[in-house]
Amino acid sequence: MVARRGPRNGHKYIFVFGGVMSGVGKGISTASIGKILAGRGLTVNLVKIDPYLNVDAGTMNPTEHGEVFVLDSGLETDQDMGNYERFLNRDLGPEDYMTSGMVYKAVIERERNLGYHGKFVEAIPHVRDEIIERLRSSAKMAASDVTVVEVGGTLGDFSNALFIDAARVMHLESPADVLFVMVSYLPVPYTIGEMKTKPTQNAVRQLNSYGVQPDIIMARSTHPLDQKRKEKLAIWCNVQADHIISAPDVDSIYDVPLNFERDKLSDILLKALGKRVKQTSDLGEWKSFADKAHHAQKPVKIGIVGKYFDTGDFVLSDAYLSVIEAIKFSAYHEGHKPEIAWINAKDIESGKLPLESLNDYDGILVPGGFGESGIEGKIKAIQFARENKIPYFGLCYGMQLLTVEYARHVAGIPGAHTTEIDPKAKDPVIMILPEQIEKLAKKDYGGSMRLGAYPCKLEEGTIAREAYGEKTISERHRHRYEVNPEYVSRLEEAGLVFSGRSPSGKLMEIAELPKSVHPFMLGTQFHPELKARPLSPHPLFTAFVKAAIVRGKK
Ligand code: GLN
Repeated sequence: MVARRGPRNGHKYIFVFGGVMSGVGKGISTASIGKILAGRGLTVNLVKIDPYLNVDAGTMNPTEHGEVFVLDSGLETDQDMGNYERFLNRDLGPEDYMTSGMVYKAVIERERNLGYHGKFVEAIPHVRDEIIERLRSSAKMAASDVTVVEVGGTLGDFSNALFIDAARVMHLESPADVLFVMVSYLPVPYTIGEMKTKPTQNAVRQLNSYGVQPDIIMARSTHPLDQKRKEKLAIWCNVQADHIISAPDVDSIYDVPLNFERDKLSDILLKALGKRVKQTSDLGEWKSFADKAHHAQKPVKIGIVGKYFDTGDFVLSDAYLSVIEAIKFSAYHEGHKPEIAWINAKDIESGKLPLESLNDYDGILVPGGFGESGIEGKIKAIQFARENKIPYFGLCYGMQLLTVEYARHVAGIPGAHTTEIDPKAKDPVIMILPEQIEKLAKKDYGGSMRLGAYPCKLEEGTIAREAYGEKTISERHRHRYEVNPEYVSRLEEAGLVFSGRSPSGKLMEIAELPKSVHPFMLGTQFHPELKARPLSPHPLFTAFVKAAIVRGKK
């Protein structure tokens, strides 16, 4: 028996599944569907389902997963959530994300608390119903008109089957309110030179085997879909030809919503859902952003000194996705084209890459990170940027290491280090504060990390205060270590300015050097990249990029 779920007052759900293979842009398609529906005046919320058993993305290695995207609430999620926030230009809640682990955990905890009154507890119906409840509650929390749900994984995977079944049941209960979109891939094999539809036909059969028939197929490929193949897919996949959307590769993911609208996708979706809304689509601001991205020509060169994650012969830049996007937004906004270079901190450490090569960049950035790998290389790069007045921006680890570097080379504390690397450091300038451990334990954040949004007060007359134009800000965190308050006055006396602090004054949130000393030398304990959006570039990234542009002109 399926539980009664109360009145539905016309709320619509669009489920997005992926056929053939992963990595074909299901996340961007979902975000873009959200964007075009929002452009039609609807309130949209986007939900990401990750079928793995991890309860959240926090414990996953970046090689496995790419970036961990942290929400205001502190939930550690998939990078698609970052794309959703960037496309919708709003914050998402923890109810907009779920993993199999999260769902199972809730069911098992309920079972342990006798919540099932002694009944058998099974994947179907109990886990499936928990999924449905969560989807309904995310729609309610967002007070949205439409919920677009991306079901992670590929059709045919074992692990996402329950989620597909939840979608099937929701459709069964209210067919007019639920729409199925399949994002598929059409290969053009080099030796054949022709686009092949068979894998997509098979993927549709696979979806059919779950009892689900796609309403719309998004045909992802290197090439546009021609009429002949559209007709072939229509007949073999049992989908109307005008519901098969050509989605060829594009230069910029931010063009995708505009391309969808060129094909009138929002009309097709709204018609299929029986939803009547205003006739015109308002994507004007988005379009002007996309135009800026296309027209930017003058380069601004940013070197990211980090740890690089390779899988086989490939390097994953995904681990720094939000950082890259944040640089782009500010650069485009300033009419410049970002040229981002990857600098392996280990190569600086070993001397393989001469430090002087950093002179080639207009700005240097050290992103967040954990552990020992390449750490002395990062510190060397920071010192070089400081001494040669190259704009420097440090994010989280990059701020902690800025502090260590300043302590060692300017404040006369040669034994300065972070206890993350040297637990017995003579001068633990960066450490885990005992009171933080206690606080975090009380909040039960799963581990000892400080996660999610915290307020930060800004000091008058600083670069940070000027950039934000506000006295108090809120930014997202993901770290364990902090600047040790016992060293703050020595560092300040030596010229380092802590321009942002927690409201209690205890935690250092931003460290910077005055403009009179260095054009831009600033680090944040938080992750500003998580709040940078195409339509509202992050003020600190913009300040950094502006300083880099000035250097580039010299
Ligand atoms: N490893 C550092 C810490 O745990 C920084 C973390 C980060 O950069 N996200 O505090």
